[in-house]
Amino acid sequence: MKIDVQKIAKSRISELNFDNLLFGKNFSDHMFVADYKDGKWGNLKIQPFQHISLSPGNSALHYGQSIFEGLKAYKNNKGEALIFRPLENLKRMNKSAERMCMAQLTEEVFMSGLKELITLDKQWISDRPGYSLYIRPLMFATDEFLGVRPSETYKFIIMTGPAAAYYSEPVKVKVETYYSRSMVGGTGFAKTAGNYAGSLYPAKLAYNEGYHQLLWTDAKEHKYFEESGTMNVMFLVGDTLITPPAADTILKGITRDSVLTLVRDWGIKLEERRVSVEEIIKAIDNGSLREAFGVGTAATITHIAAIGFNGKDYVLPDIKTRELSGKILKSLDELKTGKSEDKFNWIYKV
Ligand SMILES: *Cc1c(COP(=O)(O)O)cnc(C)c1O
Repeated sequence: MKIDVQKIAKSRISELNFDNLLFGKNFSDHMFVADYKDGKWGNLKIQPFQHISLSPGNSALHYGQSIFEGLKAYKNNKGEALIFRPLENLKRMNKSAERMCMAQLTEEVFMSGLKELITLDKQWISDRPGYSLYIRPLMFATDEFLGVRPSETYKFIIMTGPAAAYYSEPVKVKVETYYSRSMVGGTGFAKTAGNYAGSLYPAKLAYNEGYHQLLWTDAKEHKYFEESGTMNVMFLVGDTLITPPAADTILKGITRDSVLTLVRDWGIKLEERRVSVEEIIKAIDNGSLREAFGVGTAATITHIAAIGFNGKDYVLPDIKTRELSGKILKSLDELKTGKSEDKFNWIYKV
């Protein structure tokens, strides 16, 4: 499929201060756009990053048919751009699209747009240690119609922006036992706009109490952990790494899958099963909980420093003692930047 490429007259990259990058605030020179109409994708273009105009009757604004993805590109020591597991993001985007009754993307549209865009804006991938280019694919309904039904037209956009080395501070999280992010039969596994809107209010309440994030529990009993913010969660109890199963209430993270693959490869004991709040509180009390962390594309690993439950804060072991998550972080960084052998076939070289 032909992509119509309209290049920016003068790159904006010199306006950027790489010493002081705010995540999500800066967008690279170009964006990729495609339109879905009459049952197929067409009108593929790369153009300077710019505003789009929408009708006030745009159905995505009213009824929320909007899905997105998040992935990263890195530079290796030869200056080549490496994208981490992009086909997994395509697969997940199509799962989200199916649940939200939206158009399926083809591999051709997704990958050709991504490849062209990264080729064109390669200089936005900084080779400073830990830096990357964050890639945000987005699809939303474009019918101008005020009625609740699936849109017949969609727009797909890929935008990118530089991301600094993200050494995430350890977080204090609160176990949420009233509000729910998702429920069995709901949309929790989809990366769709409404899931995030619904989580803002309970997260704000927790923030006001001094917590950085929520640790969500199941909607039915509020007894089992689900995930935290936009991260999946893992606990190292004794020598076993435990994580909740990725059922339909949990977003199935690609970082989660990468971590589980590595850990399995290292022969570490692994359990994907329901993890109760009670079990983890007990493990903290008897000293068997060694590590707890969130995993996601933004920071890869975020240590959990303390867990608030029933009005009490449980302090977790010192970050300096956390060897496993440190080893995971280092291995993933080396894989993503081409410093170690790509034994799982995760790297897409542009
Ligand atoms: C994106 C996301 C994750 C992490 O997924 P990755 O593919 O690892 O980035 C976890 N939970 C939620 C709710 C998310 O939106």
